[in-house]
Amino acid sequence: MVDSARLNRCLRDGSSGVRLHVDPTKCDGYGVCAEILPEVFKLDEWGYASVEGDAPLDAAMEERAVRAVAECPAKAIAAQDSEEES
Ligand code: SF4
Repeated sequence: MVDSARLNRCLRDGSSGVRLHVDPTKCDGYGVCAEILPEVFKLDEWGYASVEGDAPLDAAMEERAVRAVAECPAKAIAAQDSEEES
């Protein structure tokens, strides 16, 4: 997992293989993430979030991705660097 500072760095230096994940055991359905980054987060019929697709984030999403991680009230969103997965 990467914190917001590392997420920022990954996206800034263009190395971004960064993907966002929602922990379904923590998500409380506040919907903040989907308001901030609707291209990535989809809400189900009860308002719980999941990440749409498996594409890495692009630089145009940088600021909003950092905000989504920071502003999730349940701290349910994690950023994962693909280099750290292996
Ligand atoms: S902001 Fe957090 S708690 Fe709210 S829907 Fe998104 S992941 Fe779930």
